[in-house]
Amino acid sequence: MHPILVSIFSLFWVALSLALSPVHQKNTQTATPPKSVHVGQGEVARWAGNCKRCSFEKRAWPAVNGTCYYPIDMEMKPGDYTISRRTTGGKLETARLLVTEKPCRQEDITNFPKQEYITVSPQNLARAAREAAVLRPLIAYQSTVRPAVFDLPVGKPASPLPRGEGNFGACRTINGQARDRHTGQDYPIAAGKPVQSVGNGRVLLATDGFYSGNAVYIDHGNGLISEYFHLKSFTVKANQTVQKGQKIGIVGETGRVTGPHLHFGVRWYGACINPGFLLIDPAELPEVK
Ligand SMILES: [Zn+2]
Repeated sequence: MHPILVSIFSLFWVALSLALSPVHQKNTQTATPPKSVHVGQGEVARWAGNCKRCSFEKRAWPAVNGTCYYPIDMEMKPGDYTISRRTTGGKLETARLLVTEKPCRQEDITNFPKQEYITVSPQNLARAAREAAVLRPLIAYQSTVRPAVFDLPVGKPASPLPRGEGNFGACRTINGQARDRHTGQDYPIAAGKPVQSVGNGRVLLATDGFYSGNAVYIDHGNGLISEYFHLKSFTVKANQTVQKGQKIGIVGETGRVTGPHLHFGVRWYGACINPGFLLIDPAELPEVK
C-alpha cells in the first residue's frame, strides 16, 4: 500500500476508535459478561463449585455437595430467566438461564385394552380427583426441605435397566381422545422383575392409584422425589426408610397401561423433569459458564 494511503487509513482507524472508545471502554472495564446457561424444558442445569444456596423464580433450595441444580419443569415457559446462587464464602451471584422449547412427541394409542380408561366413569373421575388432591402437596415445591440423602447420578430403578421408551413428556391420545402429558419415562421390563429405590430416602406414599396403579413415591431429601408406577405389588409403606438399591416392589401392569412396564418419574423442587438427567454423570448437564 502507498504510504499516503496507509496514513489515511490509520487516521480513519484512529478516528473510528475514538468515536467508539467511550462505550467500548465502559463495557470492557466495568462489566464482565454475565454467566449463562441454555437448558431445555424438562432438563436440569447446574452451577458447579462452592455453592451453598440456589434460587430461581422466587424459589430457593440448598446446594447438593457444593453444586446448585436448576430443574426445569417440562411445561415451563421458554424464555430468559435469572438464577442466583450464594457461595460458601457468602457471595451472591446471578446468571441468565435460557429455557428452550422441547416439542412434545405425539403418541396416539389405539385399541386401548382397558375399557375403564377410555370412557372414565363419574366414580372413577371422582376417585382420581381425590387421589390427585392427596398427591399434589406431597410432590409440590416446599420452601423447607429435609437434607439430601442422595448424590448424583442416582441409582437405577431396575437392574439391568433397559433403554427407555423415550416417551418422557409425550403428548398422548387414547383412542383419539387427548390425555395429560406423560410425566415420566417408561422402561420395557417384564412383569415380576424387581423395582428398586434409586437412592436412600423415606417413602412418602405407597398407594393404589386409578391412573398410576400400584405406585410408590420416595422422598430423597432436598426436594427430590422419585415415582414408580404400575407395579404388580409393592413391599414398602409410608414413612418407611429405604436404602439405595433396596427392592420396593415388582413390575406389573396396574393402572392405565397397555401392558407390563416400569414407569419411572421424578419431581425436583416441584418440577416434573426427565428422570434420565439424574441417571447420567452430572458433569454432562448444561452448565452455567
Ligand atoms: Zn408411563
